[in-house]
Amino acid sequence: MEFKSFLIKYAEIGIKGKNRFLFEDALVKQMRHALRNCEGDMKVYKQPGRIYAETETHCDYDEVVAALKRVFGISAICPVVQLEDEGFEKLGRDVTDYIREVYGADCDKTFKVNARRARKDYPKTSQEINEDLGEILLDAFPGMRVDVHKPDILLNVEVRERFICVYSIVIPGPGGMPVGTNGKAMLLLSGGIDSPVAGYMIAKRGCKIDATYFHAPPYTSDLARQKVIDLARIVSRYSGPVVLNIVNFTDIQMAIYEKCPHEELTIIMRRYMMRIAQDLALKNDCLGLITGESIGQVASQTMQSMLVTNEVCDIPVYRPCVGLDKQEIVDISEKIGAYETSILPYEDCCTIYVAKHPVTKPTLKHIKKSEALLSDVIDDLYKQAIDTVETMWVK
Ligand code: ATP
Ligand code: MG
Repeated sequence: MEFKSFLIKYAEIGIKGKNRFLFEDALVKQMRHALRNCEGDMKVYKQPGRIYAETETHCDYDEVVAALKRVFGISAICPVVQLEDEGFEKLGRDVTDYIREVYGADCDKTFKVNARRARKDYPKTSQEINEDLGEILLDAFPGMRVDVHKPDILLNVEVRERFICVYSIVIPGPGGMPVGTNGKAMLLLSGGIDSPVAGYMIAKRGCKIDATYFHAPPYTSDLARQKVIDLARIVSRYSGPVVLNIVNFTDIQMAIYEKCPHEELTIIMRRYMMRIAQDLALKNDCLGLITGESIGQVASQTMQSMLVTNEVCDIPVYRPCVGLDKQEIVDISEKIGAYETSILPYEDCCTIYVAKHPVTKPTLKHIKKSEALLSDVIDDLYKQAIDTVETMWVK
């Protein structure tokens, strides 16, 4: 059975009225992007209330399904068989072949035929198609029964202009909203497990993603840097192209290390990361920051620590992993194909200077006092970090 066409279903919630075409256009654009390298020159087009991806030649089914499963906004992917209209008898034989190939010769499932006609000059009404095809299938498959309420197989038969389309397979899509229907946010992307998951989760709500990575050469290696680029690429498979900013953080980190109490290093460092990421966000039309923080995961992610970290931010900070356990984050990381890369053992700038006993309940008053110790150097170092940002497109 060759599938050349895929009917795309999308959730209707929140896209009524005026917003609907924006949603659909964004979905079409994302689908085209996702399918651009697939075999068969897949075309994506809209019809009222539905979107199709189709090839006129031949496509690789698994490749197309895998690509569409990464497009947010899709609730289901239905592979469609296109049959020439060569009379009802031939349709009956083709539909019997379809069931045999998809569900096996001894198919014993319940079913319902659901016919629709876009072409009203077809010689049978929709109801007649339902009944007559139903009978043909009952004859061909002794184990099959009709169930009009909760059928195992809902066999859709659509009489269209050029073809009669048959589909019954429903492959779940990723859900969410098409990227581009919401604003853009700046992801603080480290080489860990959590931040790529956080980027994926916010992209799922329709947001574009820019990313910022803080590295500390020579303490962090080129391999660590390449790992983050690879993770940005994995996020971009879902979010579309990502602008990745690489910030050289070595001098700021060294200054903090030399001048501030060691148990406060991580918090102070995190405050500088947030400040710089926010500056880059504002310069690049991002409407918020994204981090992979989760309450209580490490000392810098207690509620007290996050209060102190957050204090430097004027724009919203989205923390989609905040209520997830590590295993739940790992599960998503595996699902999106990031885990294998995330666990590669390269050092992160956070891990280089960690104190033995970092504060878990910092107060703003203490941290500000410690930060004041940087006052003679920090402005220059900050400016230098911003001025030397390396920017690249990752896709
Ligand atoms: P992750 O698994 O995402 O690295 P983590 O559990 O290691 O997270 P932290 O190191 O405390 O946690 O970092 C918390 C968040 O801060 C990260 O999820 C990420 O958003 C951001 N972050 C940490 N280190 C960096 C870095 N070197 N560059 C960019 N962002 C970072
Ligand atoms: Mg980390």
